[in-house]
Amino acid sequence: MDFDDFKFHPQVRAGVTAAGYNTPTPIQAQAIPRVLQGGDVMGIAQTGTGKTAAFVLPMLHRLLAGRRSHVCGLIIAPTRELAEQINESILELGKETGIRSLTIYGGVNAKPQVAKLKQGVDIVVACPGRLLDHLNQGNLDLSHLETLVLDEADHMFDMGFLPDIRRIIKYIPEKRQTLLFSATMPNEIRRLAQEVLQKPTTVQVDTVAPAKTVSHVLYPVEPHLKTAMLLELLQLTKTESVLVFARTKYRAKRLGEKLVKSGYRAASLQGNLSQNKRQAALNGFRDGSFQILVATDIAARGIDVSLISHVINYDIPDTADAYIHRIGRTGRAARNGNAYTLVSREDQIMIRAIERVLGSPLERCTVDGFDYSVTSPRKNTEFARPPRQPQPRRKPGRQGQAKPVQTNQQGDQPKSATRAGKTGKKNPKRSGLRRGRGTAPLGLNLQAGRGGGQGRGGR
Ligand code: AMP
Repeated sequence: MDFDDFKFHPQVRAGVTAAGYNTPTPIQAQAIPRVLQGGDVMGIAQTGTGKTAAFVLPMLHRLLAGRRSHVCGLIIAPTRELAEQINESILELGKETGIRSLTIYGGVNAKPQVAKLKQGVDIVVACPGRLLDHLNQGNLDLSHLETLVLDEADHMFDMGFLPDIRRIIKYIPEKRQTLLFSATMPNEIRRLAQEVLQKPTTVQVDTVAPAKTVSHVLYPVEPHLKTAMLLELLQLTKTESVLVFARTKYRAKRLGEKLVKSGYRAASLQGNLSQNKRQAALNGFRDGSFQILVATDIAARGIDVSLISHVINYDIPDTADAYIHRIGRTGRAARNGNAYTLVSREDQIMIRAIERVLGSPLERCTVDGFDYSVTSPRKNTEFARPPRQPQPRRKPGRQGQAKPVQTNQQGDQPKSATRAGKTGKKNPKRSGLRRGRGTAPLGLNLQAGRGGGQGRGGR
């Protein structure tokens, strides 16, 4: 299949060429014909599959068939970063079209958004909370909307956004085209799909298996030695861009600061930052000004940065799916990548869940010369929070606004698995890093591949 087969408007076709796309990806080949026909689509695909262009290109084509004076396309995404990334795709692919798009999300001044809405836009890319504010305040009229896209629906569910989505849909005509994309299909998303889609065509691409070019290694270490171990690994390993994952926003922030103090060009990306700072961290990581980015899972959703040589899980993720998603940030486009995970005793169940998904035991590795014998301080203050300052009383929050909460994902199990040991990249020669099963220090009994564990999310 070729992009010419879709018979896109010449200005849209020009955008495809300018973006350097030669062949449609599987999700594009399956979804675009159906979307062009005007039907509803449920796309089961994750970031990295080319799903954005699968809905952006038909939307641009449709808009060129006749300009309207109202918002025609609405794309709802769970995070600001993803919204910006989608808008960048619209700008790139729609360069020749003159179509006007706008991102809408919280954490930034609403006035410029209102001003742009007044001037008129064709496509809105929005996060649910701020979009609902604009709708409630009458800043935005969706009564003529033609296409609604719900992107990363499972993450919207994870973040507690489904009630907002249902409220937003009340502002949209029933007669519309709806496209729903999700990497996994928890029951809540199936239910939502039944509510919002009409006779949908389901298209699915199985990309949940990690790239075969990624090698996976566990580094057993006591929790109080994790930062020292991370610094040691960074010193001993030849890296390009490194994405480090921490469990909480606070841990990401503190760890980012520690890396800067240790002389690294590092930044953190977590939900407590202002939008400007989030974007600056991401841009700096993309253009290489920051070599290391420390992020939480939610902040890192959908990040598309090439040249990430190492993903380091400072904290193991909560689910095997999240592990696959994290390490999917490296080894992209057939490059070699490395996934390191610092693990402690309490991570055993999650390690087994990940090993089951990968289909083989994960390699354990120790670092020669690293002092594993340092005992834990009686009170570990590494991530202790400073005492809270007295806070002024808060005004009551927005009525009916769901507070985003993170819950465990309950998605489908990945369909296929990769035997990391067989297909993974050959071990890089790194002085000081010793590999081998059963070499866990300090009696950390993290033997590979035993027993069944208790399934996913069991921490
Ligand atoms: P997405 O899954 O939409 O986030 O896309 C992942 C990456 O694939 C982005 O950097 C896109 O620019 C790129 N991409 C999308 N479609 C194609 C294509 N047909 N050929 C090459 N790259 C593509």
